[in-house]
Amino acid sequence: MPQNQEERASQTREVIIIGSGPAGYTAAIYTARAGLKPLVFEGAVTAGGALMNTTEVENFPGFPDGVMGPDLMDNLRKQAERFGAELVADDVTEVELVGEVKRVVDGAGEAHLAHTVIIATGSGYRELGLPDEKRLSGHGVSWCATCDGFFFREHDIVVVGGGDTAIEEATFLTRFARSVTVVHRRDQLRASKIMQNRAFSNPKISFAWNSEVVGIEGEDRVSGVRLRDTVTGEERTLDATGLFIAIGHEPRSDLFRGQLDIDAEGYIKVESPSTLTNLPGVFACGDVVDHVYRQAITAAGTGCSAALDAERYLAALK
Ligand code: FAD
Repeated sequence: MPQNQEERASQTREVIIIGSGPAGYTAAIYTARAGLKPLVFEGAVTAGGALMNTTEVENFPGFPDGVMGPDLMDNLRKQAERFGAELVADDVTEVELVGEVKRVVDGAGEAHLAHTVIIATGSGYRELGLPDEKRLSGHGVSWCATCDGFFFREHDIVVVGGGDTAIEEATFLTRFARSVTVVHRRDQLRASKIMQNRAFSNPKISFAWNSEVVGIEGEDRVSGVRLRDTVTGEERTLDATGLFIAIGHEPRSDLFRGQLDIDAEGYIKVESPSTLTNLPGVFACGDVVDHVYRQAITAAGTGCSAALDAERYLAALK
């Protein structure tokens, strides 16, 4: 082997993981326990992923009394470190994924080589862009009915959006809420007919048509939602103690465009139920591939699958 090729081979790691949510850390735990010494890029400011922004998580199995989101992520992180995962609080800014050796460039411009790359970059919730939205997140403002609906027993809730997700969330929330008002900018929904009919026949659901949310009221918790009529421009306040925003997701897949197959909504395509992408040695897991479930436990589950897929791929290289 020529000198530079030899050097390159000795510096090439088995696994690089991009992302540090439940998917990334679970992939790190599994690959580290398999002796693959993964290098994990956790993200420069968002290490720990989406659950760092929440309070109590009640539906992650194994915690009968619930667990605070940041504590859960800290535990996952420590578990990955215990088995030898190398964690770096930095962003990946560039990737070259084609070919047997992959190249991953960090925020400082340093290049790292690996035989496999596991992508676990997650997905962001689309926000309304209102000043009080972040402040009241976790205090009445939510993006996930499955996660938080339980906390809203007998509340009056507003759901923003008109697609399948919004209508599914609204219908789900009627299990807990006293009332659910769906706020939609237009005078008809985008959701499928079957979902619409289910919502129209639900006595707890009403609709604020041609309306957009222009403000969120409340000091420590949401107390009302300010609406503007998109036709007349008139404004009014709707009394509500919960605001669920269901206007879409943004999978963090831009970095991989042009190399990986990505669908029209921005999710990385995998050969489901595996985590194989269109490129050999590149695996994707968690919310960046998930249109449907988007839960911490499902992200952790596919993180495990990605680790096992990477292990098998590496074993076949030898
Ligand atoms: P994420 O958790 O989003 O993590 C992605 C990671 O990738 C981040 O660390 C980010 O920094 C990193 N990253 C992205 N790009 C790069 C890059 N270029 N370089 C390096 N790193 C990068 N689910 C539940 O099951 N129960 C709940 O109670 C619950 N509550 C929630 C409350 C809130 C407020 C939110 C926002 C979500 C909640 N969820 C809950 C959903 C759950 O958090 C997600 O389904 C889960 O975190 C997805 O995991 P992930 O690993 O795919 O991605």
